[in-house]
Amino acid sequence: MIDIKSDTGRNPVRVAVLGAGLAGLSAADYLTEQGVEVLVLEKDDHPGGLAATFRSDSFHFDYGPHRFHTENPEILKRIKELLHTEMLELNRLSRIRLLDRYFQYPLALSDVLQRMPFHRGLSMVLSYLWERLRNPFFPRDESNFENWVVKRFGRQLYSIYFGPYTEKLWGCNASKLSADWASQRITVPGLTSLVKETLFPSRDTVRSLVSTFHYPQGGIGKICEAFDERIKSRDGEILYKIKLRGISINPDSTFMIETDRGGIAAETIINTIPVTDYVHLLGDLLSEEVQEAALKLHFRAIVFLTLKLRNRVEARDHWIYTPEECYLFNRLSVPENFDPECSGNGSQVVFEFSCNEGDDIWNGKIDLNTLAVRGGEKLGLFKVSDVAGTTLARQSHAYPIYDLGYSSNTSIVLDALHDLENSVTCGRQGLFRYNNMDHSIEMGQCAAREVLGEGSVAERFTWVTDTWADG
Ligand SMILES: Cc1cc2nc3c(=O)[nH]c(=O)nc-3n(C[C@H](O)[C@H](O)[C@H](O)COP(=O)(O)OP(=O)(O)OC[C@H]3O[C@@H](n4cnc5c(N)ncnc54)[C@H](O)[C@@H]3O)c2cc1C
Repeated sequence: MIDIKSDTGRNPVRVAVLGAGLAGLSAADYLTEQGVEVLVLEKDDHPGGLAATFRSDSFHFDYGPHRFHTENPEILKRIKELLHTEMLELNRLSRIRLLDRYFQYPLALSDVLQRMPFHRGLSMVLSYLWERLRNPFFPRDESNFENWVVKRFGRQLYSIYFGPYTEKLWGCNASKLSADWASQRITVPGLTSLVKETLFPSRDTVRSLVSTFHYPQGGIGKICEAFDERIKSRDGEILYKIKLRGISINPDSTFMIETDRGGIAAETIINTIPVTDYVHLLGDLLSEEVQEAALKLHFRAIVFLTLKLRNRVEARDHWIYTPEECYLFNRLSVPENFDPECSGNGSQVVFEFSCNEGDDIWNGKIDLNTLAVRGGEKLGLFKVSDVAGTTLARQSHAYPIYDLGYSSNTSIVLDALHDLENSVTCGRQGLFRYNNMDHSIEMGQCAAREVLGEGSVAERFTWVTDTWADG
């Protein structure tokens, strides 16, 4: 690995990639395949970003459940060729815990009506009919999440499931969130469609209903670990644990990236770190209006608490949603149901606590351990005496927050970055886009193509606007 300090005065690198998650590594992989000189700069000590795998002793777990699926056969082929380990093909099993019982995820009407207490089921149907009746006369403003869902599913289903889950996940009232998140996350367009889908299942399975998915043996992080290896084998460089301090433009029009290890000159930048941080690094190169818009964009964080267990957990699910207030965590997952070898001789459950970076959950001022142990026991997953240990992991930029002003603020920022020559921003963080792993891989590849003059910006942006996303 080069010593940047002694290298400050060397010729500019052809392409500097900021961030070693899927988008950044996919871009670097494509470029090195074409023989282009690449330097990747990453703040963590490992590749993967959100799609990394946390490894410790004989067990490992991902940062929340990650299932790989794609509608693009080329992407699947590329990942299968890249991996040294087998891609397992799994049938998804996930449920929702509500009213002391489990419901299928995604919701299926027959299941809801069968399991829901009669009076709840009835009021759900009545409240939906009421919505249908009132809407022609008093149409709801559908720009916020709450109204979007109430209009399509009725107030009752909203208040027991969609509302509490959303407010726990995002930490704010659902009426303050843009309906864009609903349309990206809820693919069944309403209760009527839920009935139709139950009676006459369609052949065009929507993405949330896809029941099979791929998973690399050894953890989702194997994808980025393999990218890292292949990039280095082609003489691409990846610097981990590096701090970026600022970006300016040299007299010869190349970029100067200031880091804690010295300055790095680069002809082109592919950015995949949070767009807010990128704007901050670019400083005066962007207008005040852009800086202000970026300051209004925020990310939701997650603390992952993993309980190691002596005995096998009592659930075959990949993950379980827990929208109710009595659980502070909004979801839990069971890593060995993805890959049987990830828990050694024991077992483990990963609890996701959504929070804001710096709040009491993030800073450990709330006893998450006790909440996870009690919650897991209440759900009937394990006995307290089974718990053998705990591990904490954090992600500060887990979800871009789609508040009511996000769309206009994102446009101001992305339009300005689009006009910045020799810089391409992409990926989940770079575009402030709630997307999936395959999207980030594809975006990285498109960004690399654009740098090589093989693709257009339009091509890069079209498919990211209306896609469904897992997490
Ligand atoms: C809980 C959860 C569950 C998910 N489940 C699924 C799923 O089931 N299926 C699916 O397809 N997708 C899922 N996703 C989405 C998927 O993880 C992401 O879309 C994808 O990993 C994003 O890759 P990226 O490279 O665009 O961004 P990131 O993975 O965020 O990569 C950005 C990189 O930049 C680095 N970085 C940040 N700041 C700096 C800095 N200042 N300097 C240098 N480096 C920096 C980061 O450390 C990181 O490595 C899930 C996401 C979450 C949070």
